[in-house]
Amino acid sequence: MHTAKRLAPYRRKRDFAVTPEPADVPASPRSARGAAFVVHLHHARARHFDFRLELEGTLRSWAIPKGPSLDPAAKRLAVQVEDHPLAYARFEGRIPAGEYGAGKVWIWDRGTWTAPGNAAQALQKGQLRFTLRGQRLRGEWSLVRTRFAGRQPQWLLIKVADAAARAGDVADDVPLSRWRKRRRAAPVGRPHKAVRTRAEAQARG
Ligand code: MN
Repeated sequence: MHTAKRLAPYRRKRDFAVTPEPADVPASPRSARGAAFVVHLHHARARHFDFRLELEGTLRSWAIPKGPSLDPAAKRLAVQVEDHPLAYARFEGRIPAGEYGAGKVWIWDRGTWTAPGNAAQALQKGQLRFTLRGQRLRGEWSLVRTRFAGRQPQWLLIKVADAAARAGDVADDVPLSRWRKRRRAAPVGRPHKAVRTRAEAQARG
């Protein structure tokens, strides 16, 4: 389907004179490592996550109430919503009250994704197996369309069991920028060493 046609529902729902969300569709230089993916944390009427995959000139999008989980046992409901423009992959901001999706939007994760074969066809058939290379989300995943009744297609986002899987993983409420700062403060392999040392020193008096 043509990009402009796929984006018609997105444009219809928004007043670009009011919302800071992007209206334009700039061409994106395709990375050799794959197409873009982004997960937004969206504090709207109800807090949810928006999972978006670049495909054929738009961001295919799903609203995930509980957010993605690295736990293969957690099958997360993902409601397919309107395609978003590619520029949305960089969007963070506040959608004004009264506008569609009013509330704060943060980037929660971003990176690239790849799938073997024809991803558009796989989605059409209702089953996509793909790889994410994000900062939080990595490894193999699958999106499976269900027969659940609903106004919009209902999918399940499921982590495939691999080295990136983590039992009991729950998506937190921390935007990517803050998460990165936290990681810098506590490098992997030396978690909270300085904090613990201070605490121990206090305990010893
Ligand atoms: Mn949303």
